[in-house]
Amino acid sequence: MKERTSTQFRVLKFGGSSVADATAMSGVLDIVEKEEKKGKIILVCSAISGCTDALLGGDTAALEEIAARHSDIIKRLFTGTLREEVLQKIQQLLSLIELAPKEEKVTFGELLSTRILEEKLKAEGYRVLWMDSRRLVVKDNQKQTYDRISKAIEEAPDYDIYVAPGFICEGPDGRPSTLGRGGSDYSAALYAAAVKACSLQIWTDVPGIMTCNPKQVPAARTIPELSYQSALDMASNGAKVLYAPTVAPAMEAGIDIEIKNTFAPKGPCSVIGKGKDKEGWIGIASKEDTIRIVGAGASTEDGLRIASSALRRAGIAAISISAEGGGLSLKVKPAVLGKALLALHKAFFQVLPSRTVHLFLAGNGAVATALTDMIHSTRENVFKRTGKVLKISGRSNSKSFGIDLEKEPLICREGNFAEEVIKCAPAGSVFIDATDSHSIYKSYVPLMEAGINIVSSNRRSLAVPYEEYALMRSAARENGVFLRYETTVGAALPILGSIAQGANSMDEVVSIEAVVSCTMNQILGAYVPGRKTFSSMLMKARREGLTEKDPRKDIGGKDALRKLLILSREAGVELEEKDIIVEPVVPAALLEGSLDKFYKGLREMEPVFTKMYVDAALEGYRLRFVATLEKARGRYKASIGIKKVAGEHPAYHLKGTENSIMVKSAYHPYPLVIQGPGEGAREAASSIMSDILR
Ligand code: ASP
Ligand code: MG
Repeated sequence: MKERTSTQFRVLKFGGSSVADATAMSGVLDIVEKEEKKGKIILVCSAISGCTDALLGGDTAALEEIAARHSDIIKRLFTGTLREEVLQKIQQLLSLIELAPKEEKVTFGELLSTRILEEKLKAEGYRVLWMDSRRLVVKDNQKQTYDRISKAIEEAPDYDIYVAPGFICEGPDGRPSTLGRGGSDYSAALYAAAVKACSLQIWTDVPGIMTCNPKQVPAARTIPELSYQSALDMASNGAKVLYAPTVAPAMEAGIDIEIKNTFAPKGPCSVIGKGKDKEGWIGIASKEDTIRIVGAGASTEDGLRIASSALRRAGIAAISISAEGGGLSLKVKPAVLGKALLALHKAFFQVLPSRTVHLFLAGNGAVATALTDMIHSTRENVFKRTGKVLKISGRSNSKSFGIDLEKEPLICREGNFAEEVIKCAPAGSVFIDATDSHSIYKSYVPLMEAGINIVSSNRRSLAVPYEEYALMRSAARENGVFLRYETTVGAALPILGSIAQGANSMDEVVSIEAVVSCTMNQILGAYVPGRKTFSSMLMKARREGLTEKDPRKDIGGKDALRKLLILSREAGVELEEKDIIVEPVVPAALLEGSLDKFYKGLREMEPVFTKMYVDAALEGYRLRFVATLEKARGRYKASIGIKKVAGEHPAYHLKGTENSIMVKSAYHPYPLVIQGPGEGAREAASSIMSDILR
C-alpha cells in the first residue's frame, strides 16, 4: 500500500477535447500520473468531444461514428485479452443507449469516457474506484450532493484515483439527469467542495481564460490570475472556457480554480481565486450580440470613452453601451460582433507596453531640481500623451554620482559619472547635462557612440570651438542618437529649432538680432537714472539668482556671446568666439580682479549710464543689450553691445527678463520674431522635457 503524506484530494477535470481520441487520452494519463504522486485524485471527465451532441441529435450515422471512435480509442490504449474485455464493456453500454428513454440517452457519453479511463488506470496498477455521479450528484441540491460524495469516499478510503463522470446527476424523480451543457466543470467543483480538495484543476483545450475568445481575436492572451467575481462575469457572459455555475461551490469552499491546457500542460494558465484580480480591465466575453468588458477597479468612465472611440474608429455603431457592475456592457448588430471584438480588444488589451526612458541627470542645481520635480509630477500625463515613462536612473553632483536602473538612484559613488553611464545605460537612454561645467562636453561624443542621446541646458558645452561642435553634431548623426540643446538659448522659447528649420530648408539667414541676456534686459528695461543706480540693479539681479555666478559674465557679454555662437551655428554659420566683437559695457580692466573692485568701478560709472540713457530717451530710443549676426557684402559680422532701438523694433517693448529674437532670411520679406520668457528653472526644465520627448 502507498504511503501518503497528504490525505487531501486534487480534483482534475478533463473536457471533451482532452479525451477526444487515444492520443489525447494518453496526454490525460500523463497528467494524472504526475498529479497522483502528490496526493489522491478525483478524476472528473466529459464525454469525448461531439458525443453529447450526437446523443442529443439521435442521428444513426452520428451515433455509429461515436461508437467507432470509442472502439478506436480502446484498440489503441489496450492490448490482448484486456482489449477484448474493455471493448465488450463499452459495447454493452452502447447497446443500453438504444434501450434508454429518450431524455436519458444524453447521460451515456460520460459513462463511456470514464469507464475507458477507469480500465486504463487500473491496468496501470492504480487502485481505482469508479463513482456513479447519477447517485452522488443531486440536481439542485448542494447539501445532499456533498453528503453523498463525502460519505461514498469515507466508506471507500483505500483508493488512489476516484473516477467520476461529469455532467450527469440524479434528477428530482430519481432518474439520471444532467447539470446542463458544459456541466462537467460544475461536477468537478461539487466534488472538490464536497471533499474540501486542496486543488481544483479544469483541463481544457485553451491556455486558461483569455482576454477574449482566441478564435475571434487571435491577439487574445491568457489572464494569469483573476477573482471569482471576474471569472463569473466572464463565464456568465459567454466565455465558454468555464461553465459559470462552477464558480460558486469553489468560492464557498475557498478553493482556487486552475484552468489549464491539456495540450500544453506547462504553458500559460489561469488561476481563479479570492482577490486575485490585477486591477484594471480583465477581459472581454461575448455571446450573439452582447459584449461584456470585465473590469476590476477600472474607471468605467475611461472605459466608456475608450470603447466608444474604438468602435467609432472601426465604423461600428453600438446599439447600446453602458457601465454596470464595474464593467461595460455593449450591444452591437450580430453581423459586426467579430469586428467589434477586434477593435475593443485592441483598444483595451493591445495597448503598447510602456517604454521606459532611462535618464541620467548630471548637475544638481536649480534646473536639475525643477526637472526632477517636473518628471515626477507629470508622469501620468507624459505616459498618456507619449506612451513613455521617464525614469531618472542616474544622477550626479560635481563630485559623486549614483546609478540605479530600477529604483531611485542614491548619490554615493565617486568617479566619472559619464564613464559609468556609458557602461550601463541601455541604448536609447538620455544623458542630461544640466551642469555649468566647462569640460563635461568632452563626454558627449563617447556617450553618443554608446547609443546614448544627449539633452543639454549647459551652453558652455555647445559654445566650444567650432571643430569640436561639428564633431559632436556628426557623432549624433552617425550613431543615430540626438543631441538637443534648445534650452541653451531663451530657455523654453523654440528658437534654435526654428532657426535650424530655416537653415535646413536652405533658407539663408541674413541677420539675427538676439536680445537674450536676461540680466541686461531686466536692468536696461527698468533703469531710470536718479531712481536706481545701475550697480544696485546688477547686485539685485545677482541676489535673485538671475545672473551667472559671476555677474561679470553677463555684463562683460560672455553669456550673450555663448548664445550668439550657438544661434549662429544653428543657422549654419561657422562662427568662432574670436569672430564676435564685444563692445564693452564697462572697461576691460573692471572685468578682472575682485568683485568689490568691480562694483566700486560700476558705481563710479553711473554718470556714463545716465548720459547714455538720457541721450537715447531724447531721441525716442530705448537701450537694449543686443547680440547681432549680420551678413554684409558676403560676410558675416557678429557683435554684442548696448544698442539704441526704436519703437518699431520688437525688442523696444520687452519687459523684465523677456527675450526676443529676430531672424531675417533671404527668402522672407518679413523677419521671424520669437519673444517670451527667457529664463527660469521651470522654463529650462520644461524645455529639457520637450527635448527628451520630441
Ligand atoms: N459533455 C457535456 C457537454 O458537452 C458536458 C461537458 O462537456 O462539460 O455539454
Ligand atoms: Mg466544457
